This record gives sequence, C-alpha cells and structure tokens, in this order.
Amino acid sequence: MSIDYVAFRRELEAFARKSCPAEIRAVVAAGQKITKREYKAWQMILAAKGWGAPSWPREAGGTGWDIKQRLIFEEVMAENDCPPLYHHGLGHIGPVIIRFGTPEQKARFLPRILDGSDWWCQGYSEPGSGSDLASLSTSARLDGDEWVINGQKTWTSHAHEASMIYMLVRTSKEAKKQDGISLILVPMDSPGITVRPIRTIDGWHHLNEVFFDEVRVRADNLIGEVGKGWTCAKFLLERERLPPANVARLELVRRQVARLVEDAGKAAAGRRDFSGLHHKLLMCEADVKGARVMMAQATDDLIHQRPLGVQPSAIKMTCADVAQRLTSIALDAVGPEAANRFLAETDDGSADVPAATWIQNYMFTRSRTIAGGTSEVQRNVVANELLGA
Ligand SMILES: Cc1cc2nc3c(=O)[nH]c(=O)nc-3n(C[C@H](O)[C@H](O)[C@H](O)COP(=O)(O)OP(=O)(O)OC[C@H]3O[C@@H](n4cnc5c(N)ncnc54)[C@H](O)[C@@H]3O)c2cc1C
Repeated sequence: MSIDYVAFRRELEAFARKSCPAEIRAVVAAGQKITKREYKAWQMILAAKGWGAPSWPREAGGTGWDIKQRLIFEEVMAENDCPPLYHHGLGHIGPVIIRFGTPEQKARFLPRILDGSDWWCQGYSEPGSGSDLASLSTSARLDGDEWVINGQKTWTSHAHEASMIYMLVRTSKEAKKQDGISLILVPMDSPGITVRPIRTIDGWHHLNEVFFDEVRVRADNLIGEVGKGWTCAKFLLERERLPPANVARLELVRRQVARLVEDAGKAAAGRRDFSGLHHKLLMCEADVKGARVMMAQATDDLIHQRPLGVQPSAIKMTCADVAQRLTSIALDAVGPEAANRFLAETDDGSADVPAATWIQNYMFTRSRTIAGGTSEVQRNVVANELLGA
C-alpha cells in the first residue's frame, strides 16, 4: 500500500501543535538549553502515541516508518519547535542492543528507553584516551556471576542525571588493544560510582568525571561477546556521527538566527548594515541543505546495510562547522553588549535574555568540533577513505 506523505505530514503537524506543551516549545524556540525535564516529558508523550522510536524496527517497539517518513518527522518536529529526541538511549545504545543484545537484554532495556524511564550516558572517553579510544584502561574482571569495574571516565555528558551508563571496559590485557575491550551496561546508582561535575565555559553543567571503585554489575549486562566490544563501539560511533536530530536542529537554529538578524536590523533602523550577516546566513542555509541530502543518503545506506563510507564523518564535520558559524552570526547580530549581559545574567542564575542565550550557545558550540570525535580526526577518516592512506 502506498503511503500518503502529504497526509502523514499533516498528521504530524497537528500532533506537534496540539501535544507538545507550550512551555517546552518556548524553551526550544528561544534557543535555550533543553534539559532532561523537556526531553523526558516529550519522550513520554511521543511514546504514548507510539512514536517514541521513529528509527527503530517495529518488533523492537519502533514505528517501522520508511526513510521519507522519518525525515518528514524530523522536519515537522523542528519546524514546530519540538525538542529533538534524546540521542544516548534512542540513537546510540538502543540500536546496539537491538543489533547485538540477547532477547532477554532487549526485553529488559529497550522498553525503558522508549518510555523515558531510563536516561543513559556514554562512558567511552578517559583521561588520555579520547581520539585514541582503544587505549582505554578502565578494567572489568569477572568474579562469579558479576563484573567488577575499576577506573575513570571523563567528559561524560549528563552522567549526574543518568540512571544508566553504557561503557567500554578492558576485559583482557593480553589481547591486542581493540580485542580486549567489552561493552557493559551499568546502573548509575551502583555502589562505588562517584560523579564529579566539570563546568564548561558557557557556565553550564552537563559534563562530568565518573569514577569506578570495585563497582559490581550482573554478568549478563555485557553486550555481545566478551572482548568484542570494539565491534559494538564502532557500530555505535557510526550512528553517533549520523545525528539526524542535529541536522534538524541546525535548521531550527538557522531560523532562530535569521529572526535575530531581522530584528537586529529593524532595531538598528539603518544605522548598521546587516546585509553581510544575511549573506553569511544564506551560506549556512546551503550547507544545512547539503547536510540533509547527505543524511538522507546515509540513512538509506543504513537501512539497506550498505557501507557508510565517509558520510558519518562528513555530516558530523558539517554540522559542527555550521553550528559554530550560526552562533557567530547571532553574536554579531546581538552586538558588543552581549558579553556584559551574559556575565550579569549568569551571576543571578537567569539566562532568559536573548543576548545571554546566544553567547552561551556561541561558547557551547566551540565544543562541537571536539565532542563525538574531533574534526581533525574526521578529516583523517575522510582522507584515508577517499585518498587511501
Ligand atoms: C561537550 C563534550 C561532550 C562530550 N561528551 C562525551 C560523552 O558523553 N562520553 C564520552 O565518552 N566522551 C565525551 N566527550 C569526549 C570526546 O569524545 C573527546 O573529547 C574527543 O574524542 C577528543 O578526545 P580528547 O579530548 O582526549 O582529545 P585528544 O584525543 O587528546 O586530542 C587533542 C588534540 O589532538 C588532535 N588529535 C588527536 N589525534 C589526532 C590525529 N590522529 N590526527 C590529527 N589530530 C589529532 C585532536 O583533534 C585535538 O585537537 C565529550 C567531549 C565534549 C567536548
């Protein structure tokens, strides 16, 4: 039966307008930080509708939508200021469990991702093991029917508010370095876990150090084969670098910046010329459109299990670059007052003034060329693939 995409879009639009609470849409529309509160509330609403996991197969609790329907979903949600889907559960560990997990693991973990009960974080990076991830040293040893974990993770986004962490651990020191790594799922309330905040330059707390001191976890929380976690890690990283929601989110930010430039132009009433900013915005718009096309192609390749080649790295770099350029344009539109207002606003904890929001966004997006694999490393991947190393 052929799908009526126009009717599908209308159904989504009506749902987004009716079901996404106004206070959540206001946060998204203003470009403010989307917190667990907004993500979780929206996830519960989507799950109740049966749309909690647009890109999961139907048998895992997903929608079973085709590629075009998923792109329409992302577009419509972004156009209506709905939060993007929280990536760590739905986009990262969920697909890994679907691909590598046992039926029992799927039954135990997937429904709790779908309905927002579990909030996940990612324990990959360690001090000294970021780009060279396979050098990681956090260890797990088997003791009866439990793994015992010791070591430290760092730059762990949202660890302080997560209920679960998926983490890479070394289960063998003898094997060659990628082979001795396993992927384990650990409840964050396990005795022996300590979380310490890392505050970022924008004043926000979402990064953490996480310490593991004799942390015990069920043996059947290990995903896939012991020592073969690198296969899961690569599977996950490819998806992490294909952030559909981020492309949609770029579109949202582009529209917010366009409004800001427009308003700034009107406020300046001819005293300043904003045409240069409009031109820069158009260039960003072209890159967002390019990223969308790449994203559509890559998603299709994923579905048909074709190799993804350079696409994840190329999309990741483009999104990081455009996000930084857009927030620079926004700061130019806000003007030199921004820095003073940011300092004043963050002191008393309120950050709802547009200037403060944009300078926070500007500062935060500096990290986009580092998080999830640096742009230098992505360029290496692209060069190796296209030119051969
Ligand atoms: C905002 C943010 C959120 C993050 N969230 C998480 C998270 O939730 N979970 C998690 O596990 N990690 C997270 N990270 C960590 C992130 O994945 C690492 O910071 C990243 O992989 C880089 O590793 P590193 O910081 O150790 O830098 P390094 O790898 O030490 O790199 C330092 C510099 O050397 C360059 N470099 C390194 N190797 C090469 C090479 N081969 N060729 C050329 N240049 C090279 C890099 O590009 C960089 O400029 C986050 C980071 C940030 C900034």
